[in-house]
Amino acid sequence: MQTFKQSTRPFNSEDSYPCPVCRTGQISTLPLMDALACNFCQHIFTASEERQILKMADREPPVTWHWNGKRWIGAHLEGVEFGWPYLAAALGLIFLPPSLLGMSAYYFPPVPGSRLSWFPAAWTGLTFLSHLGIVLWLVIEFYQFPIATYFRAWWRRMHRF
Ligand SMILES: [Zn+2]
Repeated sequence: MQTFKQSTRPFNSEDSYPCPVCRTGQISTLPLMDALACNFCQHIFTASEERQILKMADREPPVTWHWNGKRWIGAHLEGVEFGWPYLAAALGLIFLPPSLLGMSAYYFPPVPGSRLSWFPAAWTGLTFLSHLGIVLWLVIEFYQFPIATYFRAWWRRMHRF
Protein backbone atom coordinates (compact mmCIF):
# COMPACT_ATOMS: atom_id res chain seq x y z
CA MET A 1 0.00 0.00 0.00
CA GLN A 2 1.26 3.37 -0.86
CA THR A 3 0.45 6.77 0.54
CA PHE A 4 -0.21 9.65 -1.80
CA LYS A 5 1.82 12.77 -1.43
CA GLN A 6 -0.07 15.99 -1.75
CA SER A 7 2.49 17.56 -4.05
CA THR A 8 1.97 17.15 -7.75
CA ARG A 9 3.88 14.45 -9.53
CA PRO A 10 3.88 13.24 -13.09
CA PHE A 11 2.14 10.06 -14.04
CA ASN A 12 4.49 7.10 -13.94
CA SER A 13 3.18 3.67 -14.84
CA GLU A 14 5.26 2.02 -12.11
CA ASP A 15 3.20 3.67 -9.40
CA SER A 16 -0.35 2.95 -8.39
CA TYR A 17 -3.05 5.55 -8.77
CA PRO A 18 -6.60 6.07 -7.58
CA CYS A 19 -9.11 4.58 -9.98
CA PRO A 20 -11.06 7.29 -11.84
CA VAL A 21 -14.02 4.98 -12.46
CA CYS A 22 -14.97 3.60 -9.05
CA ARG A 23 -12.94 6.08 -6.98
CA THR A 24 -12.37 3.26 -4.50
CA GLY A 25 -9.70 0.98 -5.93
CA GLN A 26 -6.16 1.52 -7.06
CA ILE A 27 -4.91 1.05 -10.57
CA SER A 28 -1.51 -0.43 -11.17
CA THR A 29 0.34 -2.05 -14.03
CA LEU A 30 -0.44 -5.68 -14.71
CA PRO A 31 2.64 -7.91 -14.61
CA LEU A 32 4.12 -8.54 -18.06
CA MET A 33 1.44 -6.46 -19.71
CA ASP A 34 1.17 -3.06 -21.23
CA ALA A 35 -2.03 -2.36 -19.35
CA LEU A 36 -3.22 -1.26 -15.94
CA ALA A 37 -6.04 -2.69 -13.91
CA CYS A 38 -8.10 -1.56 -10.96
CA ASN A 39 -7.95 -3.84 -7.93
CA PHE A 40 -11.57 -3.10 -7.11
CA CYS A 41 -13.73 -2.68 -10.21
CA GLN A 42 -11.39 -4.80 -12.40
CA HIS A 43 -11.46 -2.41 -15.32
CA ILE A 44 -8.53 -2.45 -17.71
CA PHE A 45 -6.77 0.74 -18.74
CA THR A 46 -3.99 1.69 -21.06
CA ALA A 47 -1.81 4.67 -20.26
CA SER A 48 0.59 6.95 -22.04
CA GLU A 49 3.35 8.43 -19.92
CA GLU A 50 4.42 11.06 -22.41
CA ARG A 51 0.86 12.28 -22.91
CA GLN A 52 -0.05 11.72 -19.23
CA ILE A 53 -3.32 10.09 -20.15
CA LEU A 54 -5.21 7.04 -19.08
CA LYS A 55 -7.66 5.30 -21.36
CA MET A 56 -10.30 2.84 -20.30
CA ALA A 57 -9.60 -0.08 -22.59
CA ASP A 58 -12.66 -2.22 -22.02
CA ARG A 59 -15.30 0.31 -22.97
CA GLU A 60 -16.49 1.44 -26.35
CA PRO A 61 -16.10 4.34 -27.03
CA PRO A 62 -13.14 4.49 -24.64
CA VAL A 63 -13.12 7.13 -21.93
CA THR A 64 -9.91 9.09 -21.44
CA TRP A 65 -8.57 10.89 -18.41
CA HIS A 66 -5.69 13.26 -18.10
CA TRP A 67 -3.38 13.23 -15.07
CA ASN A 68 -2.95 16.78 -13.77
CA GLY A 69 -0.32 15.82 -11.17
CA LYS A 70 -2.85 15.24 -8.43
CA ARG A 71 -5.89 13.57 -9.86
CA TRP A 72 -7.56 12.37 -13.03
CA ILE A 73 -9.53 14.87 -15.07
CA GLY A 74 -12.02 13.66 -17.64
CA ALA A 75 -10.37 14.55 -20.95
CA HIS A 76 -13.63 15.83 -22.35
CA LEU A 77 -13.76 18.48 -19.68
CA GLU A 78 -10.38 19.95 -20.54
CA GLY A 79 -10.54 23.32 -22.20
CA VAL A 80 -14.31 23.39 -22.05
CA GLU A 81 -16.09 26.06 -20.13
CA PHE A 82 -19.71 25.75 -19.29
CA GLY A 83 -20.84 29.31 -19.69
CA TRP A 84 -24.19 30.95 -19.24
CA PRO A 85 -25.27 30.45 -22.85
CA TYR A 86 -25.18 26.66 -22.40
CA LEU A 87 -27.01 26.84 -19.12
CA ALA A 88 -29.63 29.19 -20.55
CA ALA A 89 -30.12 26.94 -23.58
CA ALA A 90 -30.49 23.89 -21.36
CA LEU A 91 -32.97 25.63 -19.05
CA GLY A 92 -34.85 26.99 -22.05
CA LEU A 93 -35.09 23.53 -23.56
CA ILE A 94 -36.39 22.14 -20.28
CA PHE A 95 -38.80 24.89 -19.26
CA LEU A 96 -39.91 26.74 -22.39
CA PRO A 97 -42.04 24.09 -24.15
CA PRO A 98 -43.94 23.03 -21.02
CA SER A 99 -44.56 26.63 -19.97
CA LEU A 100 -45.90 27.47 -23.45
CA LEU A 101 -48.18 24.47 -23.24
CA GLY A 102 -49.19 25.35 -19.71
CA MET A 103 -49.89 28.95 -20.75
CA SER A 104 -52.06 27.93 -23.67
CA ALA A 105 -53.92 25.54 -21.37
CA TYR A 106 -54.39 28.42 -18.95
CA TYR A 107 -55.64 30.93 -21.55
CA PHE A 108 -57.68 28.41 -23.50
CA PRO A 109 -58.89 26.15 -20.74
CA PRO A 110 -60.56 22.90 -21.71
CA VAL A 111 -64.24 22.64 -21.00
CA PRO A 112 -64.44 21.61 -17.34
CA GLY A 113 -65.74 18.11 -16.90
CA SER A 114 -65.09 17.17 -20.51
CA ARG A 115 -63.42 13.86 -21.18
CA LEU A 116 -60.09 15.39 -22.18
CA SER A 117 -59.84 18.08 -19.49
CA TRP A 118 -56.90 16.25 -17.89
CA PHE A 119 -55.03 16.21 -21.16
CA PRO A 120 -53.29 19.66 -21.19
CA ALA A 121 -51.88 19.16 -17.68
CA ALA A 122 -50.68 15.63 -18.45
CA TRP A 123 -49.19 16.74 -21.77
CA THR A 124 -47.40 19.63 -20.07
CA GLY A 125 -45.90 17.28 -17.48
CA LEU A 126 -44.84 14.80 -20.14
CA THR A 127 -43.21 17.54 -22.19
CA PHE A 128 -41.27 18.71 -19.14
CA LEU A 129 -40.03 15.21 -18.33
CA SER A 130 -39.03 14.38 -21.90
CA HIS A 131 -37.06 17.58 -22.33
CA LEU A 132 -35.40 17.09 -18.95
CA GLY A 133 -34.44 13.60 -20.14
CA ILE A 134 -32.92 14.98 -23.35
CA VAL A 135 -30.79 17.48 -21.45
CA LEU A 136 -29.61 14.89 -18.90
CA TRP A 137 -28.72 12.52 -21.72
CA LEU A 138 -26.72 15.25 -23.48
CA VAL A 139 -24.84 16.03 -20.27
CA ILE A 140 -23.99 12.37 -19.69
CA GLU A 141 -22.88 11.96 -23.31
CA PHE A 142 -20.79 15.10 -23.11
CA TYR A 143 -19.00 14.13 -19.93
CA GLN A 144 -18.68 10.56 -21.21
CA PHE A 145 -19.46 9.55 -17.70
CA PRO A 146 -19.49 5.76 -17.43
CA ILE A 147 -22.63 5.92 -15.34
CA ALA A 148 -23.48 2.21 -15.40
CA THR A 149 -19.93 1.29 -14.41
CA TYR A 150 -19.97 3.79 -11.62
CA PHE A 151 -23.22 2.46 -10.20
CA ARG A 152 -21.99 -1.13 -10.44
CA ALA A 153 -18.87 -0.21 -8.46
CA TRP A 154 -20.99 1.71 -5.97
CA TRP A 155 -23.29 -1.29 -5.54
CA ARG A 156 -20.36 -3.61 -4.89
CA ARG A 157 -18.92 -1.16 -2.38
CA MET A 158 -22.25 -1.05 -0.53
CA HIS A 159 -22.29 -4.83 -0.28
CA ARG A 160 -18.74 -5.14 0.78
CA PHE A 161 -19.10 -3.24 4.04
ZN1 LIG B 1 -11.88 0.99 -10.09
